[in-house]
Formats: sequence, C-alpha cells, structure tokens
Amino acid sequence: MLEYVSNTGGGKPVNFETAILDGFAIDGGLYVPTALPQVSPQQLEQWKSLSYVELAFEVLSLFIDRSIMSAAELKQVLNTAYADFEHKEIIPIHQLKSRKDTYVMELFHGPTISFKDVGLAFLVNLVNFFLQRKNERLSLIVATTGDTGPATAYFSAGKSNLDAWILYPKDKITEEQERQMTCLPHANIHPVGVANCPEGSDDLDEVIAKLYANKSFKNKIKLGSVNSINWGRIMMQTVHYFYGYFHVIDKPGEKINMSVPSGGFGNVCAGSLARKMGLPISKIIVANNENACLHRIFSEGKFSKEEYVETPSSAIDILIPFNFWRYLYFCVDQDAGKIKVWLNEFQTRGTVTFDKQTYKNYSSGFLSYRAKDQETLDLIAQIYHDEEYLLDPHGAVSVCATDVYKDTLSGEKTICFATAHPSKFPVAIGDALKTQNLPIAAQHPSIEAQKLQCEKVYLCDNKHLESALIQAMEANWDLVNK
Ligand SMILES: *Cc1c(COP(=O)(O)O)cnc(C)c1O
Repeated sequence: MLEYVSNTGGGKPVNFETAILDGFAIDGGLYVPTALPQVSPQQLEQWKSLSYVELAFEVLSLFIDRSIMSAAELKQVLNTAYADFEHKEIIPIHQLKSRKDTYVMELFHGPTISFKDVGLAFLVNLVNFFLQRKNERLSLIVATTGDTGPATAYFSAGKSNLDAWILYPKDKITEEQERQMTCLPHANIHPVGVANCPEGSDDLDEVIAKLYANKSFKNKIKLGSVNSINWGRIMMQTVHYFYGYFHVIDKPGEKINMSVPSGGFGNVCAGSLARKMGLPISKIIVANNENACLHRIFSEGKFSKEEYVETPSSAIDILIPFNFWRYLYFCVDQDAGKIKVWLNEFQTRGTVTFDKQTYKNYSSGFLSYRAKDQETLDLIAQIYHDEEYLLDPHGAVSVCATDVYKDTLSGEKTICFATAHPSKFPVAIGDALKTQNLPIAAQHPSIEAQKLQCEKVYLCDNKHLESALIQAMEANWDLVNK
C-alpha cells in the first residue's frame, strides 16, 4: 500500500485519504509519498494521445490505492472537476511566432481563469467526496496571493460537506481577484480581507500555522487546507507537465524544457517530481519576479527571506517558498532529519546556506531568473505588438526567463507556463501597453459579470486576526451543525 509521511519525520505513515483531509502532517510538516512511482518509456508511449482527463486518471492512479478509491470513483471525481472549464482541451497550448520552438501552456481556462483552477478543481471535489463518504464536515482555510482564493471559493461554493475560509491580504491583490471571492452568494464561502499584511499572504500563512497548532480548536471545527501544502495539489499538478510534454514532442523520449513563474514552488515541485518519475524534462526554469527567494536558492545555494516587494505579477509575491522543502526531501535520500534541521535553522537564523553536495543534488537540471518589473511589462507589449498575443504578467515572467537562456535551451523545445488570464491584471496590462483602452484580449466575460454583483466579505486587521477567526469559525461551526 502506498503511504504518506511527513517530510520532517513526525507522526506515523497515513493513507492517501488521511493525507488529503489533514492538509498538514501532524508535526506541521508536508506529506510526501513514501516512494515516488516510476513511469516507464512504454507507459509514456501508451499515454501520448490521451486527453487531459484520461491522462490525469493514469497519473493519479499511481498515487491512489484502489482500496481508497475505485477506478469508477476516481473517474467520476475527475469528470465533475473539469466539467466547468471553458476550453475542451482543458489546457490548450499555443506556439509563439516570434520565438523559435517556444510554446505557451495556457493554464487559465478554468472557471476563475488562473492555474489554481487546475489543481483545486480536483482537490476540492476530492475532499468533498471523502467527507460525504464519511458523513463528516470540514472547515477549509486557505491564504491567497490572489488566485488560490477565487478557485477555492468557486469549487467549494454550495458543496454539501465543507465551509471555506479564505484569507487575503487587502490591497495586495487586484480588485478583479477580490470580487471573484466576494461576489459569491453561497452560505459556506467566507472571504476574509485582512488589513496590515506588510508581507502579503506570507503573514496569513503564519496565522494559519497557529490555528493548526491549536489542537482543541482544530479538532473542534475539523480544520483542513487546500493550499499547496496539501499533497493533492502537488499530485494533480504533475499531470499538466505530462500533458504539455505529449502535446509538443515529436516522439516520446525527446527532451524538452519547461519555464514556470514561481512563488510557493508548488507548481515546480510537481514538475520536479514528474521528472524524477521519468518524464524527460531537460531543464526546468524557475522564473521569479523581484521577490527572488527561489532564484537565490538555485543560483547561490541559499534559502533566505528578504524584503517584500510589490510587483505587477502579484500572485508570485511570496517570500517563503515552502514547497521547496518537499522537493528537497527527495534530493537528500528522503532524510526527514536533514529537512528538520534546515527548517529549524531557517526559523532561528532566517537563512540557510546548503552544503556543496546538497546544492549540487537539488539544483541540477534547473535554471533560474529574477525578472524585473519593467522587463516583464516590456515583454507583454513586445509579444502583443509582434503577434497580437496577450500574456498576463506571470506568463510574461516565464517568457522573460526563457529569452535570457535561449542559447542554453536552443535545439530543444520549451514550454512557458501562462498561469493567469490577463483580465485579472488590467492595471499591469494598461501599464504594459501604455493605454487605458484595453484590447478585447484583456477582457473576460466572467470578470465583467461580477462587476455588477454585490460583495459579501469579513474585514479584519491582521493584529487580531487569530482570535477573530477563532470566534467567527466556531460560531459558524455551531450554526451549521445545529
Ligand atoms: C499561484 C500562482 C503562481 C505560482 O505558483 P506556485 O505553485 O506558488 O509557485 C504563478 N502564477 C499565478 C498566476 C499564480 O496564481
């Protein structure tokens, strides 16, 4: 049986269902499978023409024991999850004309038009499936840099067995993203706009960690999380690496590169694990904006927290890429003791410098880059003028990084990930194109529709967020369980 353990070594191995419903492991670590399944060249050959949902079924079946979910149940959850995507391919791939062998993977055709839909569509439906089966209720809590919140809200709305509490840093996300959370009428959706978050959603993650550590509260209201601390997100996100790969290659075995705009490292963690499972990825390019913790990790061998900077690609304004620790676990022979020591060092000293061997082990096969704001905006304008294709600021960060490394990458195809629809970032697009008059490509009907709806939201100051949340969440729990 495939089991899951904490990457910091605490607690006992658990089954897949427990790992998903718990979110964090009991010691506050991140769940990882005890072994990474391997994909053979024959399997790659068999999978190459599958649709996204068919491929997801094959990949996920490597991680989920049939005793936990039957094939029919897994198919059912997958079909429900992706029914609301606007594009029949789920993740279409566009070839750029202005660059050789360069593709854009459009991860924004879900209902809230960002890449977060891809992981959360499945995970939230899966959580509700398990809860219905157990006849239990859960209070989900997530922090968002602007896209996790809307996707969690959309997929949780009206679900029978869960409440969703969604914390966002007020004034650090776009109005469009905010309305995607606050315009839902459903009684089980609870957006919380939090003032005074100098470090954005990292401040909110801290409060969530405290709530998790408060065992009596956690057990009373059955706390769970679908942030990318949840293994289900990482597992699901491995699928689009396989899917994109099959879409652009001539034949299985060919090596290609992937460039990923990165914040919490959830997406890249998934890609790195897909590569360790046997997907022939040559280089993974970790694309940062000015908040460049990951770039420091991969270029200097140093995990350190620096000052928070607001950028046009606000969904990746993240200071602490916690999913790096999940990937690192697989680069140090699954030695949880080492991860624990480094995490303690980071907590006490604010910085960790990795030894040469560790650095070599985790950084091989990666390139990284820190894109400046102006460079990102200029690239949006350039591609729009050259070929009338409009990237959002995050997709632009991934193409900037690819441009910088074009000599290293030449001879192989590269897929750049476009993780959001430009209509979520109208101010940045206006700055890039130097006009208030945005083109049709910068609009989306769902964003237009929500402008006419009322908002429903809790507002709270970060100073007393923890106690205010305990009160509100307990009151709601008593109400719905009366
Ligand atoms: C969340 C997000 C990312 C970063 O993903 P991570 O898994 O946190 O690295 C990139 N782009 C957009 C638009 C996002 O919403």
